[in-house]
Amino acid sequence: MRRFTADLVFHDGRLRPDIAMLVGDSGRIVSIGPAEENPEPADGGTTRFEGAILPGAVNAHSHAFQILLRGKADAARDFRDWVDSYLYPLSLTLDEAGLELAARLAFAEMLKNGVTTVGEFFYLHNAPESEGCAGRGNRNAEIVIGAARSVGIRIHLLRCLYDGAEKPGQRRFFEPADSAIAATRDLAATFESVAHVTVGIAPHSLHGATPEGIQAAAAYAAECGTPFQIHLAEEEHDLEYAQSRYGTTPGRALEQLGVVSERLCVVHGVWLDADEIAALGTAEAKCAYNPVSNMALGDGVTDIPAMVAAGMIVALGCDGPGANHQVNIWQEMRFVEWLQRVTLRRMNVVALSDRASTANYCFEMGTVNGGTALGLPVGSLEAEQWADFVVIDTADLSLLPHHGADPDALLHNIVNAMAARGAVTDVYVGGREVVGDRRLTRVDERELARAAAEWQC
Ligand SMILES: [Zn+2]
Repeated sequence: MRRFTADLVFHDGRLRPDIAMLVGDSGRIVSIGPAEENPEPADGGTTRFEGAILPGAVNAHSHAFQILLRGKADAARDFRDWVDSYLYPLSLTLDEAGLELAARLAFAEMLKNGVTTVGEFFYLHNAPESEGCAGRGNRNAEIVIGAARSVGIRIHLLRCLYDGAEKPGQRRFFEPADSAIAATRDLAATFESVAHVTVGIAPHSLHGATPEGIQAAAAYAAECGTPFQIHLAEEEHDLEYAQSRYGTTPGRALEQLGVVSERLCVVHGVWLDADEIAALGTAEAKCAYNPVSNMALGDGVTDIPAMVAAGMIVALGCDGPGANHQVNIWQEMRFVEWLQRVTLRRMNVVALSDRASTANYCFEMGTVNGGTALGLPVGSLEAEQWADFVVIDTADLSLLPHHGADPDALLHNIVNAMAARGAVTDVYVGGREVVGDRRLTRVDERELARAAAEWQC
C-alpha cells in the first residue's frame, strides 16, 4: 500500500487541501479523505506532490490510427470528402507497423495530456489492400492493445462490428456479424485477467452495420452487462441515410431495432431532435460527445443542454485525431460550453440554472462520466476506483492567477485555460507511474518521436 497526497486533491466534487489517498498493491484506491484519517501505511511510504492531484481524464471515444492523417487532410471540402479522399485511402494501406506506431503515438500523447483511459473504437480488422483485405480476426486489435500496454494507458477496446460495408474503401473493416461477435468474445476472454485492458463491442453506425448486426451487438452487450457505442447522427447526411434505410430518423431507427437502453452510448448525436433526446434520456442512454472533432469536420453542434436536462450522461471523446488534430480531453471540456455559446449567443449554457458550476459540469464530463459511459471504475478519486490520477503544477502560467487560493477559480482555470502539456507533471494508471516529471516512463519518448517523424502517407 502507498499513500499519495498533494497541496490540493480533487475529492468529493472540489479541490481540497489536507487530503490523502491510500492505494493498494492491486492499483485500486483503498481509502481517500482527510490526511490525518489516512496516515502513512506501515508497509509503504508517502509520495507528496507540489500542486494538485486530479482524476485522470477519460477519452471515451477514440480512433487512434487516424493520428497519421494529422497534417495531411486539411484540403478536405467536407466530411464526405475527408472520409473518401483521406480516411479510406489510409485505412486501405496501413500495415502492422503503421498501426502500431499510430497507436503508440496517440496513446503516448494522451498520457502526456493527462488522459489515463482511452475508449478505443477499433474497426481496422482486416489486412491491407495489398493483401486483399483478408480477415485477420483479432490480430490488429491485439496490436493496438499491445501499444496501449507498452506506454501504460488504460484501454477499453470497443471492437467494432462493421457488417454493412458498401464502398470499396470499407473493405478493411467488413466482417460478417457472427464472426465479429465471436471475435469480440475471444478478445474479451484473452484479456480477461490482463491489467488495464477491457473489451467491449460497438456496431459502427446505421450505415456501417446492418439492422441484424446492430441487434446482435446490443444483445452481446446485454449478455455481458456492458455499455456499447454506435456512431449516430454525426452529420446531416445521416438523416437522409436513416430515412432511406429505416424510413425514419436515426434515434427512432434505434428504437425500432429495440436497442435503446441504459447500455446504449450514442457517439456524436449532433442531428438528434428534441423528442429523440428525451427518449434517450428516459432510457438512461449515454452520449460520447466529441466537440472538437465535430467542429473540425463541420458536423454541427450537439444539443448538450437538452441531453443534460433529459438526464443523459454525457462523456467526452477526441474521436479521430486526424480530424481533431489533438488528443486533449481538457480542450474538449471547454469546447462543450463554448460551442453552445456560439450557437445560442449567451454564456454558462451547460450549467443551466446553476451559474457557478459550468466548469464542474464539463470537468465531470471529461472524467467520471467517461468512466460511466465505458462501464469502468475510473474518472473519480474514491475508494474502490482504479488509482488513475494526474498531478498538475498549479503554478503553470496557464493556471494563474489563483485569486487568493480560491479552489473554485483554479478548477475554472483547469477547464477553461490549462495548457495540459505544460501543466501535467505526473500521471499514474492503476497506481503505477507512467509519466514522471513530464516524461513518459515506460517507453523511449525520443525513439517514438523519431519513428513518428519519419512516417509518411
Ligand atoms: Zn468516431
